[in-house]
Amino acid sequence: MKDVLDRQELAVDMNPVISKMFNTEHEQVVFCQDKASGLKAIIAIHNTTLGPALGGTRMWNYNNEVEALNDVLRLSRGMTFKASISGLNLGGGKAVIIGDTYTQKSEALFRRFGKFVESLSGKYITAEDVGISPKDMEWVNMETKHVSGLPKTLGGSGDPSPVTAYGVYMGMKATAKKQFGSDSLGCKKVVVQGVGHVGETLVKHLSNEGALVTIADINQERVARIAKEFGTQVVEGDAIYDVDMDIYAPCALGATLNDNTIERLKCSVVAGAANNQLQDEIVHGRRLMEKGILYAPDFLINAGGLINVYREVVGISEARAMELTENIYQTTGDIFTKSDASGVTPQEAAMVIAQNRIEAIAKIKSVL
Ligand code: NAD
Repeated sequence: MKDVLDRQELAVDMNPVISKMFNTEHEQVVFCQDKASGLKAIIAIHNTTLGPALGGTRMWNYNNEVEALNDVLRLSRGMTFKASISGLNLGGGKAVIIGDTYTQKSEALFRRFGKFVESLSGKYITAEDVGISPKDMEWVNMETKHVSGLPKTLGGSGDPSPVTAYGVYMGMKATAKKQFGSDSLGCKKVVVQGVGHVGETLVKHLSNEGALVTIADINQERVARIAKEFGTQVVEGDAIYDVDMDIYAPCALGATLNDNTIERLKCSVVAGAANNQLQDEIVHGRRLMEKGILYAPDFLINAGGLINVYREVVGISEARAMELTENIYQTTGDIFTKSDASGVTPQEAAMVIAQNRIEAIAKIKSVL
């Protein structure tokens, strides 16, 4: 093991990584390594104009470091937009731990990661994300207080997923109002892709309102249980994109709106919880618009979980967090109005509003 890289390694391996960061607008990217515990992590702070950068930590077995870097840069940027459009005084950040969640988790690894978070002195606040359990975060919390979304038993705000689902439901209703003239989802054919923490609660809201729900998930056990409980239809695999539906709700993976799927989709509305649903936010946002499909920007309507965690940071009540989440209905409607007025897609309109807020607050801060 060596302490410096030789000339060839620098030229071949590091160039794309370093230039990737400098090609984005990120404020800081921290590479974290601890050989003893096997920790390899990247913390990306995109923008802290509005407040500390808050975003979860994801643990994933990435194929290589560049893939991990790409993910963390993309996700942290998304958090900046999400906080801004929701009117929160938070910046955007995210962390990824590179590793196998089945074999590489340990107390030492998470406590060492906690020390790295602590070293940023509150500029980055972490939380759970894909691949991380409440137990893992409890270990992180032993080394840093800059952890949010802990279980209620540990003094945190608990699982954010039900609040996320409620916000998605509000955003979906606002989108239905614009597209169908009424926000009632009764008898609307809604396909929910992914019935995990968020998707299951969304199915509950939809079923309570009398929507005709179809679900899809790669976890057959979950599908069977939820289909039975709520009396939903089931669709398998790729066939989801060919189902005749009014509303498509992606609640599993990102990038499901792409060249292949958009041409197949038979729906009028897309509104779901997954992050980064548009494979290319400009190209695919415009393609949906051309096809007459109204798209509810993901970072706007899935912000309920972030709003719920925010109450730990600023000390607002649970009731106020729910009010802010309910407000997603109004904001979604406003975005469609702006999109119509300016001829840009709802995604672009939402991004402009989020960016404008950051720029306006930056100006105020510079004179304070
Ligand atoms: P989750 O892991 O609990 O659920 C995801 C579900 O999708 C799982 O049941 C999984 O089996 C299923 N799935 C995976 N690949 C699939 C595929 N190809 N087809 C169908 N189903 C598939 O995650 P979650 O917390 O419910 O989050 C869902 C999405 O919403 C994620 O993209 C997440 O990033 C996003 N999100 C979640 C929150 C939150 O509060 N949990 C907040 C904002 C955004």
